[in-house]
Amino acid sequence: MCLWFKDVAWKSANISIFAIDFKLPVNKTTFIRFTVKQADIYDNNDRLILENCTLCPRECRVNRFREEAGYCGMDAGLNIASVCIHRGEEPFISGISGICNIFFAGCNLHCIYCQNHEISRPGSVIRNTEMDMYTVLDRIEELLSKGITAVGFVSPSHVAPQVKAIIKGMNSRGLKPITVYNTNSYDKIETIRSLYGLIDVYLPDYKYVTSEIATEYSDAFDYPAVALKAIKEMYYQKGSTLRVNENGLAENGMLIRHLVLPGHVEESKNVLRTIAEELSSGVHLSLMSQYQPTSVVRNHPVLNRSLYKAEYEAVVEAMEDLGFRNGWVQDMDSNQNYQPDFRKEHPFEE
Ligand code: SF4
Repeated sequence: MCLWFKDVAWKSANISIFAIDFKLPVNKTTFIRFTVKQADIYDNNDRLILENCTLCPRECRVNRFREEAGYCGMDAGLNIASVCIHRGEEPFISGISGICNIFFAGCNLHCIYCQNHEISRPGSVIRNTEMDMYTVLDRIEELLSKGITAVGFVSPSHVAPQVKAIIKGMNSRGLKPITVYNTNSYDKIETIRSLYGLIDVYLPDYKYVTSEIATEYSDAFDYPAVALKAIKEMYYQKGSTLRVNENGLAENGMLIRHLVLPGHVEESKNVLRTIAEELSSGVHLSLMSQYQPTSVVRNHPVLNRSLYKAEYEAVVEAMEDLGFRNGWVQDMDSNQNYQPDFRKEHPFEE
């Protein structure tokens, strides 16, 4: 076991030498293919933000109604890659029937290990350009009619106005599902404030507390500070309580996710310590062991393998020592179950 950790520490110390090869290409101009004429689905404030985009901390100041692509690469359209049933979230989020997840294309972080790289990465975007608001609402309605009671917005930081417009559209049809904001947390605090009263359950990642690691892996030096502020605002809105209904589904509150990365036990411990000190050890946590290298990082010196059991156990132990008692830990074989294929209509189903 000691040898494992010596080995891991050596790899970790050398990340910066090699990782430059794993940066994702940022193509700012070539893959926006259609002009959006749906400005009327947004309120005035959101329309102004999208016209000179300062929605997220990147503040690209591009006009997203005019095919100008910012860092996320997405225009002012709905930018939806998939609307599908997902049964692989935490038990209180998916329930038995699953959640109706709306997976957005593009992202304002470019994590080199992203498991949704088929839809999140500039240059390899799979998305349904024909999906207008009516189509999306029809699809949601169809899934909700099968007994699903929650709608999740996945990777919504660069499309928060679209999220609000979809919620407004659902409400106008009399649909009031549980709404789940499943975010990487690279959100402006103003964005989270603007969601007050619209989102029932916040499901934020807290990925890193070290800026150098956030730069290396997600191209976002300020991620630790930005994410902490955003999560604090979610905590301000929801507190530590996760209210669960009679069907075992979370219907109000916040659940913080942390994905343990291979070779980064200390970073994970520091993430947990920060949550305990800056928020509370009473919050609900989801500690994930599901990391699986994608083809992009197959040759990365640190991220090219799944997690060692001992690494995960060390983080679980730290979590317990810090006083966390609410939430979920994953089985070590979870990494076999979370590899979506967004070319399929049902990306998470066999
Ligand atoms: S949402 Fe996209 S275009 Fe707008 S500031 Fe963020 S990365 Fe740039």
